[in-house]
Amino acid sequence: MITDAKIVSAGAQCCLDWGTPETRTTAEYAVTPMDLVLFGHSPARWRLRPGRDPEDGPGRHELLRGTLLAASGAGAKYIPTPETYRTLRPVCPKCGSESSAATCRKCNTPRVNQAVERPWSPQAQNCKLWAEDVREKGLVPVPRALGEANRRMMDRIIGDRHTAKLLADSQKLVLVTGTYEGKDGKNCLPLKALIDIAPDECHELCATLTTVLVVPDASPGSWSNFAVKTGQHIQAALARQLFQAATGEDIKHYLWLLVEAKEPHILGRRRSTPELDKLAEQTCERLLERMLFCRNS
Ligand SMILES: [Zn+2]
Repeated sequence: MITDAKIVSAGAQCCLDWGTPETRTTAEYAVTPMDLVLFGHSPARWRLRPGRDPEDGPGRHELLRGTLLAASGAGAKYIPTPETYRTLRPVCPKCGSESSAATCRKCNTPRVNQAVERPWSPQAQNCKLWAEDVREKGLVPVPRALGEANRRMMDRIIGDRHTAKLLADSQKLVLVTGTYEGKDGKNCLPLKALIDIAPDECHELCATLTTVLVVPDASPGSWSNFAVKTGQHIQAALARQLFQAATGEDIKHYLWLLVEAKEPHILGRRRSTPELDKLAEQTCERLLERMLFCRNS
């Protein structure tokens, strides 16, 4: 049973922290839908999963959520990397050849250091310094190609009439917290879920929660494989139960809004079915009980 559920914020963050191996097994750690799925795959792997490294930057999901769903203007914190960077390289003053060798053998002339433009490389010292500088300003560096792909995906999503309406009429990035009370009535587990798109008061899509996903292939067959592999229905079951407990709304459907990672970024919409929902709810409860058991043993 879920108790104490409440909506704590909307639009404030676009990705949930997954803690560190040290914090993940403490009584305070709030379990997310993703935690539940990873725990279901392998409890040991879930427990030992390393924490977030700020240098890793945002993944494509996080970036899409941060630009498409976050409060307007929030997307401005993502800074694309420049195309090139400037660095000093030894250049021969006679023939212009570039090499790390101090002397040009062809001209028998010492090379002199000259500023040259190089294609951006995350490993280069100057590029690392740039990224550090951006992060120090509270901004987030984003690889240029990722930023461009994200822009195209957003255009596709916003260009779709139905989706644009759904986005306009909904609350976005709704963070819900709650507590799972175990069947033994003694132990409980803090929970949190970030719901991409949730009903805003009442309109025609009242009873639906939506997740936006970047997928390799949005066609129905590939989607079912992807959904099973990433435990989408289990994640949805936990998010739905938390949202229902927090708002008292009866959520009847779960919708996945898919966008393909590669051009032409084909869109897809998939709905859950009552049968799968029932099954996912049972799996969700089983996993929560197992997690409680592991935490207390
Ligand atoms: Zn030369």
